[in-house]
Amino acid sequence: MTSRFDSPRAIITGGGCRLHAAELLFSMQAHRTLVVVDPFFATADFVDEIGSALNRQGIATDTFSNFQPDPTDQNVSDGAAAFSRLDADSIVAIGGGSALDVAKMIGAAAANPGPIAQFQGYHKISKPGPPLVAVPTTAGTGSEATKVAVITDTARNVKMMILDAKLMPTAAIVDYELTFSMPKPLTAHVGVDALTHGIEAYVSRKANPLTDPVALSCITKIHQNLPAAWADPQNAQAREAMSFAALQGGLAFTNSSVCLVHGMSRPLGLVFRLPHGLSNSVLLPTVTRFSWPGAEARYAEIARAIKLASGKNSDDMACEALTDWLDRLNNDLRVPRLRECCGDDIDRFRASLKKMATDALESGSPQNNPIVPQVSEIEELFEAAW
Ligand code: NAD
Repeated sequence: MTSRFDSPRAIITGGGCRLHAAELLFSMQAHRTLVVVDPFFATADFVDEIGSALNRQGIATDTFSNFQPDPTDQNVSDGAAAFSRLDADSIVAIGGGSALDVAKMIGAAAANPGPIAQFQGYHKISKPGPPLVAVPTTAGTGSEATKVAVITDTARNVKMMILDAKLMPTAAIVDYELTFSMPKPLTAHVGVDALTHGIEAYVSRKANPLTDPVALSCITKIHQNLPAAWADPQNAQAREAMSFAALQGGLAFTNSSVCLVHGMSRPLGLVFRLPHGLSNSVLLPTVTRFSWPGAEARYAEIARAIKLASGKNSDDMACEALTDWLDRLNNDLRVPRLRECCGDDIDRFRASLKKMATDALESGSPQNNPIVPQVSEIEELFEAAW
């Protein structure tokens, strides 16, 4: 078996490291940099500081913030127009997964004209985009270290998964201080999203010896720190560990894969307008309960790594302990049930089931799951999460 591990060329971590963005871009011979920044941070002092530091080095800048959470092809086109107006040669992306993904695709679109939908799927990007420095602010998606972007195709109402090694950021700057401002629900949803990355990377049919330790370390950090980061948003040690875990989750799944939770989460999020982290969070316990009999030993290793079980317990007891913990975690972090996310509208939910289940299976992610479900089983899983 051969294994391969891709990552950004440089990863910088630590409190305050956000200010390294300017020197990194300078070292990449940038002359004109598009700053793609989450609207939440558009007027933040540190973004000004990065811009001023770039300008002092003779690097021209412009800012693009006109995009939504779970971004669309239109957002990418608008950003690509801003990139071309500046005649930019580099990008710094600051924000959650949405900012990072839109920035990745602005770069891809700048190098490869044509509709964004042409890139949907695996390895469809011909020419690499410009150097990209990714500065995450949510401790969730790990997009700063993945070959993935998720963009909604507005014409077809489909969340496109775009996977290509050319989408790996050139550098990632992971500064946990940027996550202090997250409110509790966002901390919970993006934190369980990162946990989903760790678990799915570990149990995936594409898991490999290079991704396994990274995935387990991600899961362990989240087990130890997510409740503390949620309870006290200013807990620096917990925030730092969560930022690190999210980075590891991204590195693990991009070199292994995600599985059934992600397959189901994309259509669910699209139909009911749920943010990505929330749609993953509501599905994780139910999908884990369904999947563990397909890879009992792997799920049991996770349970033992986080000391929910010991070597004396059987694998199935360890798997039960793991799923019980996932239920408890959601409960403790006040993650709502699926029915609450869907406005308790059971008729609309049932009417959407077939399409959501079909789209989930067609996305390709469920094929990496320890148990590959039928469409009817995915419908049952949605019902079980309700
Ligand atoms: P997000 O980027 O969509 O942000 C969610 C909300 O939080 C936004 O309103 C944003 O303004 C706000 N926000 C961001 N940082 C904040 C902070 N520090 N304090 C307060 N508010 C803040 O959320 P996300 O979960 O990071 O990203 C979700 C997107 O990433 C989805 O589109 C999802 O499909 C995609 N995704 C991408 C990958 C990948 O590998 N590329 C992996 C998983 C998910």
